[in-house]
Amino acid sequence: MAAAHTVAPSAPSSVSLGPAVALSCRECGERVPLGPVFACASCFGPLETAYRFPDEDPQALRRRIEAGPASIWRYAPLLPVPADVADRPNLNPGFTKLVRAGNLARELGVTGGLFIKDDSGNPTHSFKDRVVAIAVEAARAFGFTTLSCSSTGNLAGAVGAAAARAGLRSCVFIPHDLEAGKVVMAAVYGGDLVGIEGSYDDVNRFCSELIGDPLGEGWGFVNVNLRPYYAEGSKTLAYEICEQLGWQLPDQIVVPIASGSQLTKIDKGLRELIALGLVEDRPYRIFGAQAEGCSPVSRAFKDGHDVVRPVRPDTIAKSLAIGNPADGPYVLDIARRTGGAVEDVTDPEITDAIRLLARTEGIFAETAGGVTVGVTRKLIAFGQLDPSLTTVVLNTGDGLKTLDAVAGGPTVVIRPSLEAFRAVEL
Ligand SMILES: *Cc1c(COP(=O)(O)O)cnc(C)c1O
Ligand SMILES: [Zn+2]
Repeated sequence: MAAAHTVAPSAPSSVSLGPAVALSCRECGERVPLGPVFACASCFGPLETAYRFPDEDPQALRRRIEAGPASIWRYAPLLPVPADVADRPNLNPGFTKLVRAGNLARELGVTGGLFIKDDSGNPTHSFKDRVVAIAVEAARAFGFTTLSCSSTGNLAGAVGAAAARAGLRSCVFIPHDLEAGKVVMAAVYGGDLVGIEGSYDDVNRFCSELIGDPLGEGWGFVNVNLRPYYAEGSKTLAYEICEQLGWQLPDQIVVPIASGSQLTKIDKGLRELIALGLVEDRPYRIFGAQAEGCSPVSRAFKDGHDVVRPVRPDTIAKSLAIGNPADGPYVLDIARRTGGAVEDVTDPEITDAIRLLARTEGIFAETAGGVTVGVTRKLIAFGQLDPSLTTVVLNTGDGLKTLDAVAGGPTVVIRPSLEAFRAVEL
């Protein structure tokens, strides 16, 4: 693990990140001032953002949120960002569609209401725009001039685009063998893109070394030294889902797992809404979804283990291909505490599920969406997911970025004549 304290530029002495007041250690609770640090100096546990939230009547806060911009910034009072964040140059991600999936529900036998939270609608077509937008504000507050990351693909594009809009330099790191759609998107925004010969876990380790080195001076790595802020962006998925359900908790939610950050922060977001009185407190279950070719968390869940044994990924779901997921143990806690589960699907099942969602709801998901839909189908078959309850399934990326997964083409190719078409059997 890299040094807990990173080589930081001369940061302003007092940073202003809205309701965020400190960082606190997830393991031992120790508090440190807001800064570009990610690991506890005492126990090396992960640091997360701690808040003092507005002491406001829930009705009034709901109205204030509803009157806000149609982006994640409507929840600025609950995020580590300055109050005027929406006026600063950024991509305004979020407030994506919550689609009632009636056709898919019939196909899967879900009677309690099935919804797809479709995050392919974000500016760079994945959920990563949410987390990056928060990290950019932290980077600005701490005086970083270069935005960076280790990425399984989607994050690289999101960082490149956000940096371009914010007027920051970017240099991002990816495994060299990613899907063409993701490589092109990572490169097009004009920052530097470095392919690393190795897996995502190798890329991540390399970035941790770079942070401790003068080479990385002045660099904000959104998912490493800015991780405590970055991670908070995933809470907005929980906020939006509840607001879009009419300020109600879903009964069940199916979330993809790469590092596990998104799943843990969705849980944090739901608990915050309950604590603030914005939704009524009742039980909810969180389910995690992985690809069989990279299923260390699912394995540990099924084996009843608390620790996650790292694996070497081999799956078409490259956006989820993290063999050593940092938040894996917390995911296990949450799945067990809420009465959920963690399940995995094979590559052919992922492809089938992408086609199923496209055929039933007109949504073309990337492989991560194939993983969540495939796992949902499996959990229903196994009786672990209750079809009579309200269920939200996340689609976190766009199928146009993973075209190879579904290699499709014309049913038939003909000359432009009625005669030729008449001879075709469709
Ligand atoms: C990054 C990513 C996720 C989740 O990542 P976590 O590391 O678990 O937060 C999910 N879906 C897609 C498409 C992603 O790119
Ligand atoms: Zn600690």
